[in-house]
Amino acid sequence: MRAIDIIARKRDGMALSAEEIDFFVQGFTQGVIPDYQVAGWLMAIYLRGMDRQETIDLTMSMARSGKQLDLADIAPFVVDKHSTGGVGDKTTLVVAPLVAAAGVSVGKMSGRGLGFTGGTLDKLESIPGFRSDLTEEEFRAQLASVGIVVSGQSGELAPADGKLYALRDVTATVGSLPLIASSIMSKKIAAGANGIVLDVKVGHGAFMQTEEEARSLASLMVDIGKRVGRKVRAVISDMDQPLGNAVGNALELKEALDTLRGHGPADFRKHCLTVASQMLQLAGQAEDDTDAEAQLKELLNSQQALAKFREWIAAQHGDVRSVDDPELLPAARFQRTIPAPRSGFVAGLNAREVGLTSMLLGGGRAKKGDSIDHAVGIVLQAKVGDRVIEGEPLLTIHANDEAKLAGARQRLLSAYEWSEEKVSPPPLLHQTVG
Ligand code: URA
Repeated sequence: MRAIDIIARKRDGMALSAEEIDFFVQGFTQGVIPDYQVAGWLMAIYLRGMDRQETIDLTMSMARSGKQLDLADIAPFVVDKHSTGGVGDKTTLVVAPLVAAAGVSVGKMSGRGLGFTGGTLDKLESIPGFRSDLTEEEFRAQLASVGIVVSGQSGELAPADGKLYALRDVTATVGSLPLIASSIMSKKIAAGANGIVLDVKVGHGAFMQTEEEARSLASLMVDIGKRVGRKVRAVISDMDQPLGNAVGNALELKEALDTLRGHGPADFRKHCLTVASQMLQLAGQAEDDTDAEAQLKELLNSQQALAKFREWIAAQHGDVRSVDDPELLPAARFQRTIPAPRSGFVAGLNAREVGLTSMLLGGGRAKKGDSIDHAVGIVLQAKVGDRVIEGEPLLTIHANDEAKLAGARQRLLSAYEWSEEKVSPPPLLHQTVG
């Protein structure tokens, strides 16, 4: 086989065989095929697409490029969740302990935030001492003893994805359905969970801008997972405006803790119940949504989910005093509340702009490896559908720099759209797939 012939076949719109795909993936991972040929191959895939079988073959080849965890000796059923990324998406912080408190093991590898999207590890690392760089032995031991573990993505799992993603990032080939689906699913499959709930975000603050694209991605990923023997379900959820009220690492952690204490914003709480319900059903722990939600609400009300969160944080060396008293979490020097510039109904709130503003305040990364400020961010007091009176609080900016605060104020005010007429809030959940 020659790389050039495989590039030419894809360039001309032909389907590649499993062997051809594997030749490329393993050759690139081992450093035998150079970047420039892989870049050409990726662009051919971007332009010509891949059919389902090719996408499954690509996924499995990437999953085989490194270690594949087998967790069967640890728990009868391990469940994982994955979000395609958004703004204010702190769902894992609530859902993972909630599902673990219901008796289902949650083993998850998470990522860091990039650009306008946040990452679960950054939020968790707002807790002093929290360790996310677990070894495989530590990951397995904690899953067995605590029933919940969330660590950084091990470089040993699906290493082809890390290399391919870096190249996609600089060759304008990220936005391709088969490449996104295989990237996500290869990591999930290699991480060993039996059940996977995919939270596919759609809207301004998401990768997928239209419901149709989100549905295609969701159904492709569900299909891949099922074909390799995993139980998979996807929810397509709204990301036109941020989820919940808080955007920024420690602020989101506080909001998650509030939710685990039985409070929290209604939209965020509802979304957590939807995702957790799917996880319980995949694990056979609940018959349907009604059964699952009754169990989950009881675990929230009785604070058993909060107790599980505390146990989880302690196991990963986080200082649990900040779980008991969130005021101990990092706080920004300036906290300025911005009044509404006019009266009316909030008709739109651009999630991408809010996410970018949090990044510019220092809460996110413009490029991989940048350091971040856990304390900064935004707390929204008005979201789509709310009626606001001029001069009432619209949002609060948490900043460590006066100049950045002023820039954030301008940007956030322009992220809002207004209407004189009553506006309905957007649906949280568009569809379930699988
Ligand atoms: N998330 C991933 O892990 N990979 C992609 O390609 C896109 C989003």
